[in-house]
Amino acid sequence: MPTTALVWLRRDLRLGDNPALAAALARGERVIPVYLHAPDEAAPWQPGAASRWWLHQSLCALSEHLQRLGSRLIIRQGESLATLRALIAETDASQVHWNRCYEPALIARDSRIKQALRADGIDCASHNAALLCEPWTLKTGSGEPYRVFTPYWRRLGPQLAERTETAHRSAPAPAVALDAPPAAPPETLPPVPNAIDGLAVEALALQPSIPWDQGLREAWQPGEAGAWQALERFLIDAICSYHESRDWPAEPGTSRLSPHLHFGEIGPRQILARIREAHLGSGSGPSSGSDSGSSSDPDAVFADQAIAEPYLRELGWREFSHQLLYHFPHTPSEPLNPRFADFPWRSGDTEPPLKAWQRGRTGIPIVDAGMRELWHTGWMHNRARMIVASLLTKNLRLPWQEGARWFWDTLVDADLANNTQGWQWSAGCGADAAPYFRIFNPVRQGERFDTQGRYVRRWCPELAKLPDRLIHQPWQAPASLLAQCGIRLGCEYPAPIIDLKASRAEALAAYDRVSASA
Ligand code: FAD
Repeated sequence: MPTTALVWLRRDLRLGDNPALAAALARGERVIPVYLHAPDEAAPWQPGAASRWWLHQSLCALSEHLQRLGSRLIIRQGESLATLRALIAETDASQVHWNRCYEPALIARDSRIKQALRADGIDCASHNAALLCEPWTLKTGSGEPYRVFTPYWRRLGPQLAERTETAHRSAPAPAVALDAPPAAPPETLPPVPNAIDGLAVEALALQPSIPWDQGLREAWQPGEAGAWQALERFLIDAICSYHESRDWPAEPGTSRLSPHLHFGEIGPRQILARIREAHLGSGSGPSSGSDSGSSSDPDAVFADQAIAEPYLRELGWREFSHQLLYHFPHTPSEPLNPRFADFPWRSGDTEPPLKAWQRGRTGIPIVDAGMRELWHTGWMHNRARMIVASLLTKNLRLPWQEGARWFWDTLVDADLANNTQGWQWSAGCGADAAPYFRIFNPVRQGERFDTQGRYVRRWCPELAKLPDRLIHQPWQAPASLLAQCGIRLGCEYPAPIIDLKASRAEALAAYDRVSASA
């Protein structure tokens, strides 16, 4: 009998640098890639509508890729342990491999499954495909998890820079396992026996029944190939100016890899290795084809490291968020800073302001532009995310959990670790948070980061004719100018639903009550 290994694919929808697949191929003669659909097991954070859309496309891409290599994706639906046991019985598998997920509900499920399968005599192994550094690896000097990003990054950042330098080989063992280069996808795969059947991706009903997804289809190419195209585009067009352009929401200045990373269509080790190959050690950019590993001048490496550092730092935030969620699993619903548990959020009928925010009809242009970009494309620029989150939690004084839930349903990159951290940071109650009393002024933010109003004009076309100096505050425009531009506030475009100055003062007073009672 040939040895059979199941590879349980989950949030690692790629064939390159996939440690579970590599382990299965190394140890099994027959390798069966399976995807099990059991959304309830992630409760209460089952994938939202935009994530389901992405998952559908990504599974289709993975399925095609596997077929090209001679294999087949076996899709089943139902409780994961029971489904795995059924598959093990059908295939005579003696091994199951998977890559780890780090959400609290999934950690609990996976350890139950590992225990149960091992008790059945199955060789079960989990691997790391998603992170540079497992969340339990780095601790502060006193053995605590990091709650502040800067010292965390001071530990992690240098390890990302130094791996190829012989000068640093004598340093203590790194927390980040980067010595072996990421593996390329296999060229062929063993066939899956015909007798083993599975569902079509369509049977999972992940696609919307009402087709609202045109904007998503135009904006994205889910799947491993789409991830690599996005990375190559970023390396050619944007990484060199990333330190500045990452803050301009109208510019294509960021990598837009977040949904690809969330679904594991590309891994951070692969990104890091490709950046090194393209940018470090030669200074001549991605087309040089230079090999950073053979660089003989350490100073050149560190000079070029400055180009990549701002981007690597953001990948560092992703790692930091994952270690926060791992150590503080209650934070998707409760503030990390317990002082905020009793924060006096707005009372009364909160539905109208919440709905106006969700629909991009607050009357504050940069906020509405961000919320409409989200609705249309399933993604929002990071600067806009911070601005809309500040307006919701501070000016409108609505609980950050409401915002996190809306993002969860509408973002294609909805990610429990990053979303929780982003919302708690914005609301001032999380790790390393922007203090609550630092309240973004959305007009100033718009003037600074969307100076010519291109972002607002794109997503709020009804304001397009306003001059740059008024595009971020149409309520300041004289009536005659508004009429000339075809705008009636409250008709074509809403009047602001909140007075920014008064609501700022109210938010600060609410915060004072919390800090006084601490
Ligand atoms: P780039 O600027 O190209 O960054 C590269 C990668 O680094 C990103 O793909 C992402 O994986 C990671 N990254 C960048 N910024 C952050 C950050 N602040 N925190 C953690 N990781 C980061 N990101 C998500 O992936 N999913 C979410 O659900 C999410 N929700 C957020 C909610 C709020 C309120 C805020 C303020 C931020 C949130 N972020 C979230 C972080 C950030 O906005 C996105 O990761 C980023 O905009 C994705 O675009 P990009 O891939 O072009 O990023």
